[in-house]
Amino acid sequence: MNHYCRRCKRTPNQAGFSPDRKSATRLAYCCKDCTSELARLRYAANPEKYRGKSRAWRAVPENMAKHVVSHAKWLADNAERVRVMQKARSFRWYVKNRKKSRANSRQWAKDNAARVAANIAARDATKILATPRWADHEKIRTLYEDARRLSLETGIGHCVDHIVPLRGRTVSGLHWEGNLQVITVLANRAKHNTFWPGM
Ligand SMILES: [Zn+2]
Repeated sequence: MNHYCRRCKRTPNQAGFSPDRKSATRLAYCCKDCTSELARLRYAANPEKYRGKSRAWRAVPENMAKHVVSHAKWLADNAERVRVMQKARSFRWYVKNRKKSRANSRQWAKDNAARVAANIAARDATKILATPRWADHEKIRTLYEDARRLSLETGIGHCVDHIVPLRGRTVSGLHWEGNLQVITVLANRAKHNTFWPGM
């Protein structure tokens, strides 16, 4: 895109330009990055005005009907991005509400005892199937002991993590010392919110 952004003056401009029927070039005078930054600045300068505006916009049923359709389409077209954003959001929530989160999980586990048992059994079965003959059980045990010791010593929860997950989306790792690492529970949580390289 060689169109010139009159605000940031970048050219070529990777952000691209929105169409603008009124302009001679048929493109907006500034790039998409600048457009969203300007919107952000306008909003920051007068949040009440825009909140009121969007409230009024939402109050019109036709607007919401249109929005629901276009939003659903956007979600469908950006499934992968949505998945990442949702995971990131839930992780941010978890970091902010760790106590509440733990209480929620405990309650969920209580209410779904059978499912929890089934999940643990499935995971154990996967571990057994994924354990190669040459795995060093002594070393594996040491890692689990390290995780427990570190948790007690530091007061920060540590766990043994499969570097390549045992049940990855496209690739599955093995249960052996080379695929294990001791990391904090928090880091482990964060890891589940990121992509495995190449997946
Ligand atoms: Zn720009």
